[in-house]
Amino acid sequence: MKSILVTGGAGFIGSNFVPYFAEKYPDYFIINLDKLTYAGNLENLKECESLPNYVFVKGDICDESLVKSLFVKHDIKGVIHFAAESHVDNSINGPKAFIKTNVMGTFNLIENARQHWMTAPHQFRKGYELCRFHHISTDEVYGTLGETGLFSETTAYAPNSPYSASKAGSDFIVRAYHHTYGMDITTSNCSNNYGPKQHSEKLIPTIIRKCLGEEPIPVYGNGKNVRDWLYVLDHCKAIDLIFHQGKSGETYNVGGHNERNNLQIVNTVCRILDQKKPRKKGFYTDLINFVPDRPGHDLRYAIDAKKLERELGWKAKERFETGIVKTIMWYLAGN
Ligand code: NAD
Repeated sequence: MKSILVTGGAGFIGSNFVPYFAEKYPDYFIINLDKLTYAGNLENLKECESLPNYVFVKGDICDESLVKSLFVKHDIKGVIHFAAESHVDNSINGPKAFIKTNVMGTFNLIENARQHWMTAPHQFRKGYELCRFHHISTDEVYGTLGETGLFSETTAYAPNSPYSASKAGSDFIVRAYHHTYGMDITTSNCSNNYGPKQHSEKLIPTIIRKCLGEEPIPVYGNGKNVRDWLYVLDHCKAIDLIFHQGKSGETYNVGGHNERNNLQIVNTVCRILDQKKPRKKGFYTDLINFVPDRPGHDLRYAIDAKKLERELGWKAKERFETGIVKTIMWYLAGN
């Protein structure tokens, strides 16, 4: 059995990825290392508890001796790295945790992988030639777009928030380990995800929660900030594909060609809830409340995923119109 270290598997994307991956690959033994910060939730991994090829380890990716001991104990031969501080608003209020986990944590992981897999630059230990480190990043490293254009893999990095700067830092570390040591690495830069199990602080869960709680729905600025939305399972499938078939040293952008501004998202969620769970009086849009904009708020992100589509045959299966209904129904089911 090949042991794969997944970090941050109790978070939103990780807890969608781990059950999918563990069931698809019964020959992999999956070690899920997660610190269980406020963003991690083991309730979202209940379906994995009885799987014979899965184990959970509570711990910090920055902990040198813990990470080293996991590599040795499980003879880890692949890493899929999700763990991060991920909420932009939190990075504005407290950037230190972002630098620590996203930059130092990524460094600690990849350095331990290097020590376990390699004997010297460009020389793998015998039997470790196929060990790969997959790093999960974000489209936010590219900064902001105007009204037109798309981020491609060759777009220059221009991060604008402490979150995106820390992710950019981690991307560069991973890149350097490929160029300097010849490590087998891949990186994916994905657009905004949505779907079941997302933390309530993020945009779509906030809208749903506020609607169901009959509270004002906060919309930053004029609500015109545009994001490119991808259903979380489509992201998980892209990671699986890149981890197995991506070219070493390459970066792949992942996006759903689903650009929506925040106000469109709010209106869509409200409209669906008006049908599925009407208010006693009025419409959910009556709850919309514009609040002062986030400092440094990027106007628009949009991903060009052609490389992933062309080279690895990936395509987003879920359209926003269908994925958002699935997401809302998950919340309405009492989750
Ligand atoms: P999340 O905040 O929901 O989950 C992060 C997980 O990492 C949590 O379970 C948390 O407990 C864990 N964690 C945090 N610090 C840790 C540490 N020091 N050691 C061990 N575990 C730690 O995040 P998410 O939305 O699932 O995002 C996962 C990854 O995908 C991140 O790297 C993020 O940058 C990237 N990403 C997210 C999105 C998105 O829309 N959510 C889009 C593109 C990229």
